[in-house]
Amino acid sequence: MRLVKVTTDDGLVGWGESTLEGKARSGMAAVDELADYLIGKDPLRIEHHWQHIYRSAFFRGGAILMSALSGLDHALWDIAGKHYGVPVYQLLGGPVRDRVRVYAHWGVHDRSEAGLARARERLDYLRKVGGYTAFKGGPGGKWRAHEPPARIDSFVANAHLMREWVGPEVELAFDFHGKFTPALAIEICHQLKTMRPMFVEEPVPQENVDALKLVSDHVPFPIATGERLLSRWEFREIFEKQACAYIQPDGAHAGGISELKRIANMAEVYYIHTMPHCAIGPVALAACLHVDAAVPNFLIQESVGPDWLDGVAQTAWKVVDGFAELPTVPGLGVEVDEKEAAKLTQYTEELGGEHYYESDGAVADW
Ligand SMILES: [Mg+2]
Repeated sequence: MRLVKVTTDDGLVGWGESTLEGKARSGMAAVDELADYLIGKDPLRIEHHWQHIYRSAFFRGGAILMSALSGLDHALWDIAGKHYGVPVYQLLGGPVRDRVRVYAHWGVHDRSEAGLARARERLDYLRKVGGYTAFKGGPGGKWRAHEPPARIDSFVANAHLMREWVGPEVELAFDFHGKFTPALAIEICHQLKTMRPMFVEEPVPQENVDALKLVSDHVPFPIATGERLLSRWEFREIFEKQACAYIQPDGAHAGGISELKRIANMAEVYYIHTMPHCAIGPVALAACLHVDAAVPNFLIQESVGPDWLDGVAQTAWKVVDGFAELPTVPGLGVEVDEKEAAKLTQYTEELGGEHYYESDGAVADW
């Protein structure tokens, strides 16, 4: 967990999140450097500061700069909301919806008696606590360019079991984590089509848009991508090639609230819907929720679950019947417990820092 705190001369505090999985210290070094520029400036000139941070030092973009920019942008919006006495979404054009649909992480991975009991218990918990009606799982572990039928069949059978458990009223999605080749992704998607997924996410890595389009063109249900794409410029080719149905910009990586809204507005032209990625902390989730509230082409918001990183922040919303209520307090609507957040420093360094190797010693995707 890497949070950004910006304070003003008149005592306002803005919170942001710049957690960069696997590169946590690099992200915070960038925040420190950018603080030199921001100290003494008017915090309400959000767009001016965004432009300065993005453009002024010659080198643009990249996960480290964009995550630092995202956290600072959140904090400035939080301050602006508190300054004007309104929730951030009111400054983004006002809410276009009364509540924001969210999904939680859940899946069947282990067919042992204990594994199935754990999966059932989590499903029951998520339904009871938040009334979730959409869940996302995925094929865990490392995958080579192709795998024996038993490996593929095991994942496919688990997906079908998930459908059996939840019935046809609930939506299920699968995150392939960008670790398949186009051919393997297409093969597996065809095995999933009869259980009607809401979407398959990152079927292939993010660098090659034509490979993504190849998958989309051969799969009869929506394909999503975008959690590792940064700024409008990295989404442009996806839009122009209509390479997927839904995009998943990350609120803490893609350029903050400012850029998340602009990416969504750009996607609207292509009839592409947004489902912002958020698998980190509550400040990043808050940033996403405010944009979700204010853009028409929003589909659903990712969240790990209602208990994720509990204790780090008091949030001004809760999930009811699978929807997050809109916060009504000024700013982002999060009150951070700094001691609890500090405890998660180590966790963030570990997050994304696991390493996978194939049985022959070659590097495998995470
Ligand atoms: Mg993902």
